[in-house]
Amino acid sequence: MTMPRRPRVAILGAGAAGLCIGVSMQRLGLDFTIYEKRDGVGGTWRANTYPGAACDVPSNLYSFSFAPKRDWGRRFPEQPEILAYFEAVADDFGLRPHLRLGIEVCRLTFDDESAVWTLDLAGGEQAEADIVISGLGQLHRPFIPSIAGIDSFAGPLFHSAQWRHDCDLTGRRVAVIGSGASAIQFVPPVAAMAEHLTIFQRSANWIIPKPDRVIEGWRRWLLEHVAATQKLSRWSTYWRLEKNYRLIREGSLLGRLIKWKATPELERMVTDSVPRDALVPDYSPGCKRVLISNDWYSTLLRRNVSVELSPIDHIDTDGIVTSDGAHHIAAAIVLGTGFQTTEFLAPMSVIGHHGLDLNDAWERGAEAYLGISVAGFPNFFMLYGPNTNLGHNSIIFMIESQARYISNAIAHMIEHDLDWIDVRPDVMDTYNSQIQRNAADTVWAGSCSSWYKNDEGRITNNWPLSSFGYWRRTRHFWPGDFARHPRRIAVKA
Ligand code: NAP
Repeated sequence: MTMPRRPRVAILGAGAAGLCIGVSMQRLGLDFTIYEKRDGVGGTWRANTYPGAACDVPSNLYSFSFAPKRDWGRRFPEQPEILAYFEAVADDFGLRPHLRLGIEVCRLTFDDESAVWTLDLAGGEQAEADIVISGLGQLHRPFIPSIAGIDSFAGPLFHSAQWRHDCDLTGRRVAVIGSGASAIQFVPPVAAMAEHLTIFQRSANWIIPKPDRVIEGWRRWLLEHVAATQKLSRWSTYWRLEKNYRLIREGSLLGRLIKWKATPELERMVTDSVPRDALVPDYSPGCKRVLISNDWYSTLLRRNVSVELSPIDHIDTDGIVTSDGAHHIAAAIVLGTGFQTTEFLAPMSVIGHHGLDLNDAWERGAEAYLGISVAGFPNFFMLYGPNTNLGHNSIIFMIESQARYISNAIAHMIEHDLDWIDVRPDVMDTYNSQIQRNAADTVWAGSCSSWYKNDEGRITNNWPLSSFGYWRRTRHFWPGDFARHPRRIAVKA
């Protein structure tokens, strides 16, 4: 068997990445299927429906350049509006007929002989594809901490990305574990309805004001009706955020400025119930994502809110016991504990050339060439893969760069009648040595714990240079970076 001239493409995930590459495949006129485990499109913006869920990237950068949304209602859009945008992309670009919803892909196996990928789907069905593109991203598997007694809690206990809308928290005692990007969004609205809310915080965050506002009046009219205004606004926001990338360098001027400006203000907020350690981080700004919020600190100061800094010892039927022996009664526990980020593609198993298991290839941590291709896994591409997350700019920009690169790679395969392409191990190794060298002097390598690095401290998730630099590197597909296998001509008997 040889690869058909129009290869069949399997796309995994119908979030921003899956939809973006779906549009690219549509444009190439290919036969493609998008497999999505949920019952609709939108990925993280379908899963995260917690109160206050919103984007911390400005709205004018949070749409595809080929489908710019001009009528955002807010500067920092909320989850329903973002989900509606991705639904509209699926409709407007004719992606619906290509969707297979409610289907999880459990295993991918490449057959060396036929150069075909077999997809094992949950439920026992199998499918085939010549090219597989993962749009699974980095933030889709909730991290549930293994706290002793967690299963013994009698009340509702759920993760922020699996919000229990059937569970009314009004007038109840609520415990929240974690205080990251999700928690700082849902804690203020939950605190406003709860009888009491206790935040179990391990580390404080650097938090700066959120310059949010409703977009209305003449501003909105101009953005909606004068295309150049929207382009200019997008362009200027991109470059304003892009210059913040210097924050990632340890000792940066921007990092020192944030610390210098915020620390005295935070110290002024210290009270008996909100101690200094609850407010002032003990690491450099940027080591974890710098958060934006206008209501986090005022929420901490509410009379019905307390911050608990003692580590959690265990959970029992009616609350949380901390290591100082205190028992914190709770009627509901919400986990704002983030995601399993460093085991990319898990729990799916991926078997490449000569039976190579991706788990083995990634023994020392996930890595890929440009975050897109892994040596030994032909015709397999990733969007938002290893070392492509940003702390300072829009991930939509990175996804579009990846989609363009992958489209160019596939166009090259079709044009040159190739059965498969596989990134050269030496190219991938050289690239990853550079990435790790660049990552070594970033703030991420500092003492803080973060989802950017694996247990061994290797930075597996973030891109350590400017996003413009990534755009430049992915602008062209260089065939010489790949081993290329010509299409085998079928010999008639
Ligand atoms: P996160 O930033 O990883 O925060 C997880 C929190 O849980 C941290 O405070 C962590 O403490 C705490 N934690 C983890 N395990 C714990 C344990 N065993 N005991 C006590 N505390 C524990 O996760 P997230 O808030 O879900 O955000 C993840 C990412 O999602 C963000 O960085 C962002 O990229 C994305 N996000 C984006 C938006 C947006 O607006 N675009 C909104 C929400 C989320 P430590 O800090 O001490 O580890």
